[in-house]
This record gives sequence, structure tokens and C-alpha cells, in this order.
Amino acid sequence: MKAYDIVIVGAGPAGVSAALYSHRSGLDILVVSRHDSALLPAGKIENYYGLGRSATGREIVDNGLAQLRALQIPMIDAEVTQIQEGFTIFTTVGPLQAKSVILATGRKRNKVDIPGLEALVGSGVSYCAVCDGFFYKNKAVGVIGEGAYAAEEADFLKKFASTVTIFTNGKEFIGPVPDGVAVNRSILVKAEKQDHHLTLFLEAGQMPLDGLFVAVGTASSAEFAMKLGIMTENGAIKVDRNMATNVPGFFAAGDCTGGLMQIVTAASEGAVAATSALRYVKAQNKS
Ligand SMILES: Cc1cc2nc3c(=O)[nH]c(=O)nc-3n(C[C@H](O)[C@H](O)[C@H](O)COP(=O)(O)OP(=O)(O)OC[C@H]3O[C@@H](n4cnc5c(N)ncnc54)[C@H](O)[C@@H]3O)c2cc1C
Repeated sequence: MKAYDIVIVGAGPAGVSAALYSHRSGLDILVVSRHDSALLPAGKIENYYGLGRSATGREIVDNGLAQLRALQIPMIDAEVTQIQEGFTIFTTVGPLQAKSVILATGRKRNKVDIPGLEALVGSGVSYCAVCDGFFYKNKAVGVIGEGAYAAEEADFLKKFASTVTIFTNGKEFIGPVPDGVAVNRSILVKAEKQDHHLTLFLEAGQMPLDGLFVAVGTASSAEFAMKLGIMTENGAIKVDRNMATNVPGFFAAGDCTGGLMQIVTAASEGAVAATSALRYVKAQNKS
């Protein structure tokens, strides 16, 4: 089984940044990724430092991967299915060994099975209020969800939108509803957009909206972590300021650690995780 000093799982902003900050160390680094960053459906990115003209999410992801290739940083296209103590990393192309792991797998966003909805992501439908809420100033927005995550998104959207309605899709809403936010418990039938107008079809009637945010359940890219006994909180991996988890040698960066969940934080955390992992491996090699 091939052994590495550091294996980075994920090639979104956090994983690529971790790779860029570790490749000159002289240590044996590998990036393992499936290449399906949360950024891919993002239409335009306007809030990343120095980007100038807005770029699409796909352009940013492709540029990141091109950077890795240009620097000849070893990378394999595979899915990690399990990580065991020590560390053994099971992938769809075979197992690997690593002294240290940087988990940068993003955050799985739970999808809802409503006809027409996924096709409208980036065009009226969003999975991220912090990213896209600003575009709905004085507009009517909906949030699909039934718990704390949906309440959080709705509360954030209140700052911009004229009205915010949470659609529970037939479920009971769990927990407090933010002031000024309406709750609609109808079953959702389909979403459609015609002439720039989004319509949410309910079991009884329909609702015209300007934007619709999906915030169903809680995201859980923390499954690997849980199996290793790594502490999590609300589905996010708990890390200290060095991006270290409670398991020595295991670091995490980006959306999987929760927080602001933006490119800027993912890139920054990736860099910090890399420097911490390098320090850890060098200390291990000395002892
Ligand atoms: C629609 C939308 C719009 C957005 N707009 C903005 C914006 O305008 N500005 C902004 O700053 N942020 C925006 N974001 C947020 C931004 O996309 C994320 O914060 C950022 O991508 C997080 O980077 P990451 O590296 O942590 O995770 P990701 O970019 O999600 O990357 C995760 C990586 O891990 C890999 N991976 C996951 N699981 C496995 C596995 N089991 N095995 C192998 N590889 C795996 C994936 O293939 C991927 O390469 C937006 C997000 C969405 C969904």
C-alpha cells in the first residue's frame, strides 16, 4: 500500500489551498478528490478578493485544478469511502496510508426531490443565503426546510428580502421560527421559471417568488470524522485555530468545519491546515 506524509481529501478551495501550501515542503503529498465542488453551480462570484470581473464557480474550480497540475502536485480522481485510524484511507481506486490527513470535503447539502428545482440552481434557486441573499433586496424569497438550518437561513435573508416564507414540504417545523418569517406547511409539487418569474407549485395553489433557498435538514460531511471519533458540532467538524481536530494528525478545512462557508474562509483554512500538518509530520519524523 502506497504511504504518504499528507493526504488531502478534496480539491475545492480548501483542498487546493492546502496542497499549494504544502507542496514545497519536500514531503510526500497526495490530493484525492472527486471534483464536484460546491462552487460548480455558482453563477457568478463577486465577493472574492482580487478577482476583478466576476467569474463563475466552475472557472474558479478549474483554475484551482490547473494550478495543481502546473505545479505537478500529485492528485488522483477517486472517492474516499472510509478513513481508519493511523491513517488508512480507503478509496475507489484502492487503499492508501498517510501520517496526516487534511479533510477538505466540503459540506454535503441535502437535496430535495421537487421536480424542476435542481435545474434552477444558480438561476433563482440557491443553497447558500450568505452567498446569494444580497441579490434579493426587497424581493420575495422562500426557504425550503424544517429545522434550525432553515431558520438560520431565513433569519439571514430577512436583512434583504421584503418577505421570507419557510416551506416545510408537509413536515412540522422544529424549533423557533424567526420573527417576521412565515411558515407554509403545504406539500411542494414543482418549481418553474418563466419570463424571469419563479413559481412554486403547492398541493393547493401556487406561490410566485423571486428566489428560493434550500436548507433541508443539516449537512453532514462529518461522517468520516464520526467514524474516527472526531468531535463534531451541528454536522461540522470541530477544529482549533490550527485547524486541528481532537485526533492527532487529522486536520480539517473549509465548509466541512462550518462557519462562514465561503471561498475566502475555505482557502484560508486550507493554508492553515497545511502548515499545521507539515509541522505535525516533521515532528513525527524527528521522533
Ligand atoms: C450555489 C452556490 C453559490 C455560492 N456562491 C459563493 C460566492 O458567491 N462566494 C463565496 O465565497 N462562496 C460561495 N459559495 C460557497 C463556496 O462554494 C464554498 O464555501 C466553497 O466551495 C467551500 O470550499 P471547500 O473546499 O470547503 O468545499 P468544496 O468546494 O465543496 O470542495 C469539496 C471537495 O471535496 C471533494 N470530496 C467530497 N467528498 C469526497 C470524497 N468522499 N472523496 C473524495 N473527494 C471528496 C469534492 O469532490 C470537492 O473537490 C457558493 C456555494 C453554492 C452552493
